[in-house]
Amino acid sequence: MQNPRAKGGFAKILGLVALVIIIIFGMFMLSSDSFEKESPTINLQSNSWNLKGTFPIEISDNAGIKSYQVALIENGQRIPIDAQQLTEQDSMCAIKNANTAPLTQNITAQSPIKSFCIGIQKPQSLKNNVPSISLEVSVTDTSKWNFFKGNTTTEQFHIQIDTKKPQIAIVANSYKITQGGSALVIFKAEDENLKSVKITNGILDFTPQPFYKEGFYISLLAWSKLHEDFNAKIIAQDNAGNISIAPINYFKQKKQYRDSTIPLSDAFIDGKISSLVEEIGERNLEDFDSKLAIFRYINEEVREETFNRIFKASSFVDTESLIEDFSIAAFSPLKNGAVMASFGDHRTFTYQGKNVSESNHMGLDLASIKQAPVILNNPGVVTLNEFVGIDGNALVIYHGLGLSTLYAHLTSSEVNVGDSLARGTFIANTGNTGLALGDHLHFSVLVQGYEVWNAEWMDSSWIKTNITQVIAQAKDIINKL
Ligand SMILES: [Zn+2]
Repeated sequence: MQNPRAKGGFAKILGLVALVIIIIFGMFMLSSDSFEKESPTINLQSNSWNLKGTFPIEISDNAGIKSYQVALIENGQRIPIDAQQLTEQDSMCAIKNANTAPLTQNITAQSPIKSFCIGIQKPQSLKNNVPSISLEVSVTDTSKWNFFKGNTTTEQFHIQIDTKKPQIAIVANSYKITQGGSALVIFKAEDENLKSVKITNGILDFTPQPFYKEGFYISLLAWSKLHEDFNAKIIAQDNAGNISIAPINYFKQKKQYRDSTIPLSDAFIDGKISSLVEEIGERNLEDFDSKLAIFRYINEEVREETFNRIFKASSFVDTESLIEDFSIAAFSPLKNGAVMASFGDHRTFTYQGKNVSESNHMGLDLASIKQAPVILNNPGVVTLNEFVGIDGNALVIYHGLGLSTLYAHLTSSEVNVGDSLARGTFIANTGNTGLALGDHLHFSVLVQGYEVWNAEWMDSSWIKTNITQVIAQAKDIINKL
């Protein structure tokens, strides 16, 4: 005869074991990635669309995406739309590091893809001139939660249809630009959904700043001495994908810059060049296999590094604050300075009778007495004060409107980065730090980081005609609008 108490005890043990198994399984489900409960997210790249090209929708999930669906909602009805995975190359899809493996709309769970863009084309049923559309996007992840169905997110989006291009109107611009020199443009750019406004000269880009009244912009631009062509255009883009391009017509004047040949001597490389290598301290002289390699390192690698540091300190453009006005005096960087070398000089270096390297002198060299005082004759903010290779101890000062000046080969300087300096401030003494063959000041003018022909900015009548009067004329026009 069995003991009923024993039987009940056995059932209790069985129940306990089952409970433990359920708890363990439940804990496994809760902790396992395969059963995670986080739903996918859906983000639109833009709330407006011009119905041309592809409209991107960003979808992501922490575990992976199993499937997605897009439908147009029209009069309460769901009309499915074909959506394709976009690659990184699709310009409107901003996802970085997206996995671009080919996909169908039902993705296998073997290789879960965590974030990518899908794109839709204009739905065929859509009538023209609709002001907006509603989309329903549904995304399911690879989780085994919900009895292996996964987590699904379904969201509706309202998208404004905008087929109107941004409007660009040039208000005023300087009449002419010289190769190597600067120019000014003031214009209006308007759009309900304006996304970006930029200027290109065909090779280099410039960022305009808000000017005077809402919707107006101002920018200096440069034609690099190093480039043969210059074709200035304003490019405005809206969030719906509409782009407008307006050419800026300048009278273009080519300029012949000086060419010279400089033979390199062993004494020069063993002297100035080698001591500069030691001062920079990045490489040992013993690491080079020839004198020529030492020169090339300084003239090519270090020169580029120097350019990059100066560029970084002088290319920032404040697109938030409104420029009410801009006035600048003709720069006069060194009192009684004699010109030792001019802007734009192209130098070919020869060694043992062969052309071995070259450079472009992108500033003006002025010399007076040793350790001559450098006095700032335009107010500005210090954006760089350091030893920068070729330029030695250098200062960069920002004067507004994307315009900076560089003072190089200095002995020492009392000013600090961030200092706001008044006109007439003593900023440094000249010297021969960096690649300098004697005490002098190397002075450069930079427009959004690019060196320009300094002579224009040292000429008050050029400034009056090309900057001051253009700004005054533009304000006059804007005031009458
Ligand atoms: Zn120089």
